[in-house]
Amino acid sequence: MLKVNDINVYYGNIHALKGVTLEIHPGEIVTLIGANGAGKSTLLKTISGLLKPKSGEILLEDEHVAGKVPQLIVKRGISHVPEGRRVFANMSVEENLELGAYLRKDKNGIREDFEKVYQLFPRLQERRKQLSGTLSGGEQQMLAMGRALMARPRLLLLDEPSMGLAPLLVKTIFRIIEEINQTGTTILLVEQNANMALSIANRAYVIETGKIVAAGTAAELGESDQIRKAYLGGH
Ligand code: ATP
Repeated sequence: MLKVNDINVYYGNIHALKGVTLEIHPGEIVTLIGANGAGKSTLLKTISGLLKPKSGEILLEDEHVAGKVPQLIVKRGISHVPEGRRVFANMSVEENLELGAYLRKDKNGIREDFEKVYQLFPRLQERRKQLSGTLSGGEQQMLAMGRALMARPRLLLLDEPSMGLAPLLVKTIFRIIEEINQTGTTILLVEQNANMALSIANRAYVIETGKIVAAGTAAELGESDQIRKAYLGGH
């Protein structure tokens, strides 16, 4: 579905992604694990068109999308839930969700997706008239995910969905990620909570200072001593 081939991304002189190559197959949950500053958010931003790679390719099915504008990439079926949620604080829950569908013209489809999002996140339906800035952190995370789903993506990019949430809520969010995947959406999940991420993922990549240093099935990486020591709090 998505192939990232040898991409290099810079911020000025900082070489943030150094020849990153990875692949996501239809229907998978793939997780990208790495420490602070390893380049996880940079990779998601590059896939969604917010950053332009200096070299390398990104192929969505057979179309080259590296360096294309974010709007086109959303239209092609990739939605990005950025780190830190970024909901529009002065707009209601419902208005935020409407914005997620702003590139679509299929009114019936949009109505169906409102229903689906409210089914996944009943809390959002209860609060649909509330200003988003007054939602709790967990509710804002749900809204950011719901807004991304309103674009009806085939591939959903999630940046640290568990950040700052209480453990019970982290469980809820991960269960919902699995549900979204089961309805046919492919997922690339960036997480510092490697244990939780590996528990729902099919495959995983590990990134260190801009380079992919390990890849495998979630089970393989979960059993690797090196990965356990570095990322899973193991011994
Ligand atoms: P975190 O989980 O802390 O967000 P990350 O793995 O997502 O970490 P990135 O945000 O992708 O890491 O950052 C990768 C590297 O690029 C870091 O060294 C970071 O300091 C640098 N970087 C990120 N954004 C910018 C920017 N706008 N300007 C300059 N350097 C940046």
